[in-house]
Amino acid sequence: MGNFIVSKFGGSALADSEMVKKTAEIIKSDPARKFIVVSAPGRRFKNDLRVTDLLYLTHSRFKGRENYDETLNQVKERFVEIINGLGINFDIEAEIAEVKRNMLSGKTTEEIACRGEYIMAKILSLYLDWQFVDSAELIYFKIDGELDLTKTLERSAMRLRNVERAIIPGFYGSIPGVGLKTFPRGGGDTSGALIARALKAELYEKWSETTEVYTVDPSIVPDPHKIRNVTYMELRELTYMGIKVIYEDVIALLQSEKIPISIRNIYNPADKGTRISEELPENSHRTVAACIAGQRHYKAVRIEKFGLNKMHGIGEKIFGIFARRSISCEHYISGIYNFCIILRNMVFDLNRAQIIDEIKSAISAESITVENDISLIAIIGKGMGTVKGIFAKIFDAIAAADVKIRMISQGADDLNIVLGVRDADFEKTIKALYDAMILSEKEN
Ligand code: ASP
Repeated sequence: MGNFIVSKFGGSALADSEMVKKTAEIIKSDPARKFIVVSAPGRRFKNDLRVTDLLYLTHSRFKGRENYDETLNQVKERFVEIINGLGINFDIEAEIAEVKRNMLSGKTTEEIACRGEYIMAKILSLYLDWQFVDSAELIYFKIDGELDLTKTLERSAMRLRNVERAIIPGFYGSIPGVGLKTFPRGGGDTSGALIARALKAELYEKWSETTEVYTVDPSIVPDPHKIRNVTYMELRELTYMGIKVIYEDVIALLQSEKIPISIRNIYNPADKGTRISEELPENSHRTVAACIAGQRHYKAVRIEKFGLNKMHGIGEKIFGIFARRSISCEHYISGIYNFCIILRNMVFDLNRAQIIDEIKSAISAESITVENDISLIAIIGKGMGTVKGIFAKIFDAIAAADVKIRMISQGADDLNIVLGVRDADFEKTIKALYDAMILSEKEN
């Protein structure tokens, strides 16, 4: 593994000249930051348009034979402010003229949309006096539009082998012989992860405005502790529970090479943020639970059938009914004479009566009931469930909060314990579990 860092800066880190200066300071503050992947300038304030939004708009107006000068001019003005604020000499007129030429010559929307990152990377490389390397030479897609991972890793490693430091535009790559292609919106992170993996960086940093990873939802528990260290696998559990930190494909790209990810906040660079890695570092001081997270509005479908435990092919019969409608059953718990499926799905809501009838006749069920207002709350942490006394702690906390548990599920991988409670008890349960499992542990 190389001892350098690949850092990706999101659009808000480059939204205007002041932010670009701040970002440049962050980059320079650690000489290990050698490969910088950038987004196009993002929002400066709520409801502002990102440069990428403006480019999409420009191209859609062009295609609709509408006047696109105004939106293209807004793109130019965003860059003019940055160039002037940085005090550099950059020929933005030539770049914008090139975008216009590309549009007139019939280039695709994607080829136009990615010019925000291209121009931004060039400006930053001029300001820092670092080399600019175009992603078109690093990231490759196949003719059908799928990422060509093998070629990308090989070519990126080769192209950057003798490069000391570089600024690289995120979001796009090339289809050989065809042209440029972008990732889906927000895909700059995928570019960053690919470069980090190709170069076997010691760390991948994601700098953005929003990413602070808390041990519990701050709208439920004010000012909670942040998660300092989390494993890749634990993060997947967090993502499942609705906590968006980083795209799953980005984690997968880095996890396979065990490259740790550092989630940093551009407004608070002194804070070390959250580190995602294969194993927790020895000095992580973490108690068992990494975080408490939950989601509301699940349904519990309880199926009763005498002698269920002795019947064959029950799973196939019941799940088949859901599978045929592409309804995913998120959790299931079985008893001797009963079976409970937890799900959250519109198709189920719309076909509920019919599904119940089908299950009834498939296994001659005695009764099927649906509980509508179930919240799932997960206590997430590696080794969860193998720690002595953990269930006692959980149940004491829940009992003290006067909450009834409707179901319990312990992940087979020991990464979580999931409790089902009534939606009305959602916040109360989360608070109680946070106090018992995270706060009290930290303060001991
Ligand atoms: N600029 C692109 C977008 O707005 C990609 C990115 O920022 O990651 O979607």
